[in-house]
Amino acid sequence: MDKIAIIGLGLIGSSIAHAARRGRLARQIAGYDASDDVRLRAGKIGFCDTIPDSAAEAVTDADLVILCAPVGAYKAIAAEIAPHLKPGAILSDVGSVKGAVLRDVAPFVPAGVHFIPAHPIAGTEFSGPESGFASLFDGRWAILTPPAGSDAQAVARLKAFWQGLGSQVDVMAAGHHDLVLAITSHLPHLIAYNIVGTAEDLEKVTEGEVIKYSAGGFRDFTRIAASDPTMWRDVFLNNRDAVLEVLGCFNEDLSQLQRAVYNGDGDMLFEFFTRTRAIRRAIIDTGQDSAAPNFGRNKT
Ligand code: NAP
Repeated sequence: MDKIAIIGLGLIGSSIAHAARRGRLARQIAGYDASDDVRLRAGKIGFCDTIPDSAAEAVTDADLVILCAPVGAYKAIAAEIAPHLKPGAILSDVGSVKGAVLRDVAPFVPAGVHFIPAHPIAGTEFSGPESGFASLFDGRWAILTPPAGSDAQAVARLKAFWQGLGSQVDVMAAGHHDLVLAITSHLPHLIAYNIVGTAEDLEKVTEGEVIKYSAGGFRDFTRIAASDPTMWRDVFLNNRDAVLEVLGCFNEDLSQLQRAVYNGDGDMLFEFFTRTRAIRRAIIDTGQDSAAPNFGRNKT
């Protein structure tokens, strides 16, 4: 690429810039963020070559434009940048939901611009331009969801870009992406937010005790429950149907476990926990997590 433009300079936007630099994927990286403060901080860190004062200016002449803001902001950004996109450019994004992105952005995309949504399955619980790092996408999956009739060459170029950032790349339909991510990402976040909230609301166990004895398992939920509230509000507002579908399955399984605990059905519990342990093993075997005890933490 000659020029890429990144709109939204938080965790994901800054990580793309760092990784694109590392891989020498573009001659010029332009960045823009709606926040004056973020633009200033990003300028000091220096992962972009230019940080103009408007999104329109950032995308001008860019071969690849990537939206890295919260999904709820996409529609307004698309409306603003659409007239400034270069013919032949690729417009993409990193949003955690894909059906809603197609709905919100596609109507603004001018003829001759290739709109190919994408989603890197990589992240941390941190936000902001300081939290980005070049190796975030290494060995992780990026999913492209090109709409029907997308230009194959543009899809191949975007795929090569994500491989250059360190990712492995899959291509699937937006609707299927939203269902897969509802169970692998969105529901786990909802559960984590819920369990941490429940612990805070318990009356017979003090907050001090919850924190002091958190190494019993609670602590691992708190990492996920510390994720950015704006981003996750937008995820649940924009993937409602798929989240409700998997939440229904989850509630059924939870009722089954509740019955087994109530009835003292040890066989059922043992069989269930054995099945889930195999999933953890498969995640480690495919290199998607560390096999080190306690996620590689030094102390329990
Ligand atoms: P982040 O660290 O909070 O960064 C988002 C940045 O976008 C913030 O600096 C925000 O500024 C800025 N922004 C908000 N509205 C904007 C607008 N209209 N124009 C330009 N910039 C705007 O969030 P993130 O974790 O990088 O997430 C960004 C996107 O990546 C989201 O769509 C999310 O779904 C997706 N994603 C996140 C993860 C993850 O684990 N975090 C993983 C995969 C994909 P303010 O803070 O001032 O609002």
